Amino acid sequence: MENIRFVAVDEAYKRTPVEAVPPARATSEYYGCNVFNRKAMRKYLSSETRQRVYESIEEGVTLDRYVAEQVAAGMKRWAMDLGATHYTHWFQPLTGGTAEKHDSFAEPYGKGESLEEFTGKLLCQQEPDASSFPSGGLRNTFEARGYTAWDPSSPSFVIGDCLCIPTVFISYTGEALDYKAPLLRSKLAVSRAAENVLTLFGIKGDRVQSYLGWEQEYFLVDSALYAQRPDLILAERTLIGHNSAKNQQLEDHYFGTIQGRVLEFMKDLEFECYKLSIPIKTRHNEVAPNQFEIAPVYEEANLAIDHNLILMTIMRKVADKHGFKVLFHEKPFAGVNGSGKHCNWSLGTESGIGLMSPGKTDMDNLRFLTFMANTLKAVYDNNALLKASVLTATNAHRLGANEAPPAIISSFLGAQVTEAFEEMIESHDMVKIDGKRGYSSGIPQIPELLIDNTDRNRTSPFAFTGNRFEFRAVGSSANCSKAITVLNTIMADQLNRYKEAVDRRVAEGEDLEQALIDETRETIIACRKVCFDGNGYSAEWREEAAVRGLDREVSPPRAYDNFTSESTVALFSRTKVMNETELAARAEIDWEIYSKKIEIEARILADLTENHILPVAIRYQSVLLDNVTKMKDIFGVNEYRKMAEGELSTIKEIALHVSDARSMAIEMERMADAALESPTERDKALLFCDEVAPRLESLRKHIDALEMIVDDQMWPLPKYRELLFIR
Ligand code: ADP
Ligand code: MG
Repeated sequence: MENIRFVAVDEAYKRTPVEAVPPARATSEYYGCNVFNRKAMRKYLSSETRQRVYESIEEGVTLDRYVAEQVAAGMKRWAMDLGATHYTHWFQPLTGGTAEKHDSFAEPYGKGESLEEFTGKLLCQQEPDASSFPSGGLRNTFEARGYTAWDPSSPSFVIGDCLCIPTVFISYTGEALDYKAPLLRSKLAVSRAAENVLTLFGIKGDRVQSYLGWEQEYFLVDSALYAQRPDLILAERTLIGHNSAKNQQLEDHYFGTIQGRVLEFMKDLEFECYKLSIPIKTRHNEVAPNQFEIAPVYEEANLAIDHNLILMTIMRKVADKHGFKVLFHEKPFAGVNGSGKHCNWSLGTESGIGLMSPGKTDMDNLRFLTFMANTLKAVYDNNALLKASVLTATNAHRLGANEAPPAIISSFLGAQVTEAFEEMIESHDMVKIDGKRGYSSGIPQIPELLIDNTDRNRTSPFAFTGNRFEFRAVGSSANCSKAITVLNTIMADQLNRYKEAVDRRVAEGEDLEQALIDETRETIIACRKVCFDGNGYSAEWREEAAVRGLDREVSPPRAYDNFTSESTVALFSRTKVMNETELAARAEIDWEIYSKKIEIEARILADLTENHILPVAIRYQSVLLDNVTKMKDIFGVNEYRKMAEGELSTIKEIALHVSDARSMAIEMERMADAALESPTERDKALLFCDEVAPRLESLRKHIDALEMIVDDQMWPLPKYRELLFIR
């Protein structure tokens, strides 16, 4: 029976787009059918083996070879029953995407026969020859060994004919070559640190998890139009294009009725997600035309990130079936909103205590304020590092470009939490007056906090939203591991400091409750400057932020210096998340990727200018010249001047734009060539940032002006008004 159902669902996956209506069945019937979850394990693994796997997932116990052998055998049978013929170690290289190299189960034996083989060794560890991935110097070419190792805490899954096994990717010497390994280490660090702080509140043995609920924004473009835009194909953003007369001014797209073709795509996508246990909850139109959002229910952060990456992969496939291309770029179109991937982050215990949720008792609320204060302190102390973790060539178009959110990391708390902290700070002396259990009179008010009642501030990059923080600066194309690893790590370190400080107070004779109150009060006082509830876009805030000592850097290559600063290296080694070499490698790779992205854009734009736009502009100019000459012939010199006034000025205008655009394109390429000569990746990235990136913008102004002049029928590329409105 089980098998029949799996096959039936798989058949539905193969349907053509026209028929691709999700089956009229309850989601729960097929949810997770392509995941090696507990249900599948019950069928394919012995109870003893299952027990060992659960221990490994829950307690991080390493599986021995014998158990791994059993798991591999069961997993292979399960995957083959779903039609899988191949397997892959699925990992997250520092390029930002995901990597897979498919190997067949087929193993020849004897004379001309074969059998399906998949051993425990193949499950646990592989050595893909992945020497072409950027490693930031972690792997010299002569010792280019990199290993992928199974992460049992994220379940394996089948997509199409391939069994995908989530893995970490590490070097011969144990350094992380991927995003998952540091994330797992940071999760461990923050869990331990939070568990230690919880013991101060009398909570012991309740494991802490970091949770993540991402909100993925994206654009859809019709495949046929996309195919005519070399910039979209090669850079995933339009490097030129005049604003459409109507774009998002009317705010009629946001939360609007979802267009039929798009809705079919979304349904199909959700169907695929549910089969892979990705708990999609929300779909809606976003602010910009053709912009949408998809969001799941939050999960443990490692799983949530794997799910986000799987989603991004299957979104492209499903979009293809529906004649769409998905754009994950943070700013595919100038003049309309860009896309982010808000990361809703929190810590919670396995028994269900939300550490960023107010509770019912005074002690619960002291715990809540403690975790809030520590989060804010961690963010305040490391605001520049946190920004560096999300700043990229593509996300730089959002951050600091007068668009949500600004490039200064501050936190919005809402009126109630702010007031609670203010009372806590002031009530130092009031404690005695109130006479209540010896601590702040401000605290008992907090139970009145209604979770739904958090006011919103859309401009804040790190906003408290009732039971979690919403980190909004993360870019839509990012692997959110980068940001979450930094968040977990800075939080772990801060919680460790907090615990030490409270222990010290107690050792000096202070009462534990009083020590908690005093230390939390001091923590919040020390980081109040990170709290900002005003307009994050205003010029005044930029000035004010400088006074408060918050980082205002907007250039990605300069921000990356934060990865290798003395304080970052010390922080990451204290928490055992990354060593100095790993951090240096990340900075190196980020500089490299930054330069490459800008260089690619510069080459595309120069090509578009020279080969697509200028020839057409000149051709149109010739048409006008021809017309003017004929007018002159017919009407004579005196009369034609007045009649052809408009044409003549247009001819001049075209000439100016053409000559400016041409010289700018040449200059931009020259600067790109010069940047490539730089001695270090950092120097190169700085030149691309300072000399090449701004030229992309100034050059496009001439092209966009030409777009408004040249005959529409001659214009060689689809325009914004076509790209942005799906019919
Ligand atoms: P918004 O109103 O900000 O657009 P959405 O409903 O789109 O919010 O997404 C909010 C995300 O936050 C969801 O993924 C949700 O599951 C997640 N979330 C809710 N509570 C928590 C929590 N305690 N920790 C982490 N994420 C959470
Ligand atoms: Mg949302």
